[in-house]
Amino acid sequence: LKMKEAVNERIRCKFSEYSIDFAVGACRLDIAGGVPTAMNKAIYASKLSDTDNVCSFYNAGIANMLEREERLNTLFEDSVKNRDFKVYLQPKVSPSETRACQAEALVRWFHPQEGVIYPSEFIPIFEKNGKICSLDLYMFEEVCRLIDRWIKEKKALVSISVNVSRFHLREAGSEIWKEYKRILDRYDIPEGVIEMELTETILLEENQIPFVKAVLNGFRSCGLRVALDDFGFAYSSLSMLKEFAVDTLKMDRSFFVNENDKSRRIVGSIIQLAHSLDMDVVAEGIEAKEQVEILRKMGCDLIQGYVYSKPLPVGEFEQWREEYDR
Ligand code: C2E
Ligand code: MG
Ligand code: MG
Repeated sequence: LKMKEAVNERIRCKFSEYSIDFAVGACRLDIAGGVPTAMNKAIYASKLSDTDNVCSFYNAGIANMLEREERLNTLFEDSVKNRDFKVYLQPKVSPSETRACQAEALVRWFHPQEGVIYPSEFIPIFEKNGKICSLDLYMFEEVCRLIDRWIKEKKALVSISVNVSRFHLREAGSEIWKEYKRILDRYDIPEGVIEMELTETILLEENQIPFVKAVLNGFRSCGLRVALDDFGFAYSSLSMLKEFAVDTLKMDRSFFVNENDKSRRIVGSIIQLAHSLDMDVVAEGIEAKEQVEILRKMGCDLIQGYVYSKPLPVGEFEQWREEYDR
C-alpha cells in the first residue's frame, strides 16, 4: 500500500495535468486465454475496488463480473431505443395529511433476455463509462411525457422528482441544466412540478460554491425544483446549506436504521433548520408505522418508504393514488 501511495504521489507531481492512476494486478502464468488479457482485467478490477485493495488476483469472480459489465454495456443502446428502461414511481406521503402526495422516479431495466436489472447493479457501471448521462436525460423525458399525458387526460398532477447522477453533473458542468431545458421546452410542464434530486456530495466534492450555485440556479430558472438527496449520508453539510437555494432536503435512510434517542434528536434539529431556511423535508426509507408518528410530530413534510409503498410501475401508481385520494 505504501508503494502504491508513493508511486501515485510521484505521478501526481510529474504529470499534474493528466489524471493517471497506478494499479497492480496479478495472474497465473499458465492462465487460459493468455497472461496479457488476464493481467489487463486484474488491473482493471483493482482500479474499480473502493477498498484499499493493493493488488487484484485474476480469478473466476473477476472474469464473471467483467463479462457481465461488458454485456450490460453492449445492451444499453438498444435498450434505450426499445424503451426497456421503465419509470417506477415511489409515493412520498404527508404524514399529517396536509399536503398532496408526490413521487420519486426510479429506473428499472426490463431486458427481454436478461430479465429485471436493478439500478444498484447498472448505475455504477454506467457512471464509469458516461452512459449515465443519456440515461438521466431519458428518465427525465419519460417523466415529462407522463406529466404531459396527465395534463391531456385532465388528471390531477403529482410532483415527481428525478435523480441526477453526480457523474453526469461532473461531465456536463455548470450548464447541465441546458440539457434538461432542451427537453423541457418540448413539453408544456407547469413550473415546480418536476424536482431534480442531486446528491449531497456535490456540496463537498466540487468544493466550489460558484459552480454549485450556477447548477442550482440554472435548474430553478427553468421552473425545476431542486432537492438534496441522501442528505446526512456523507457528512452533514449543514453549514453549506446557507449558501444555496435548495427547495427540499431528503434525509438519508441511514438516520432511520438502528435509530436511537440521539439520532432522533439530530433528525428533529435538521427538520427545524430546514424549515427555518424555507426547505421542505422528506424522510427516506421509512419502514415502520411508529417512525411515521415520530416524524409527523417533528413536523416532517413528506415520508417516502415501504411503510406507504415500494416503487410502483406507473399504472399501479395511478391506482394507488386514486385509492389514496379517496
Ligand atoms: P435514491 O435516489 O436514494 O432512491 C431511494 C432508494 O431507496 C430506491 O432504491 C428505493 O427503492 C429505496 N427505498 C425506498 N424506500 C425504502 C425503504 O423503506 N426501505 C429500503 N430498504 N429501501 C427503500 P432503488 O430504486 O434501488 O435506487 C437506488 C439508487 O439508484 C437511488 O437511490 C439512486 O441513487 C439511483 N437511481 C435510481 N434511479 C435512477 C435514475 O433514474 N437516475 C440516476 N442517476 N440514479 C438513479
Ligand atoms: Mg433519489
Ligand atoms: Mg436518496
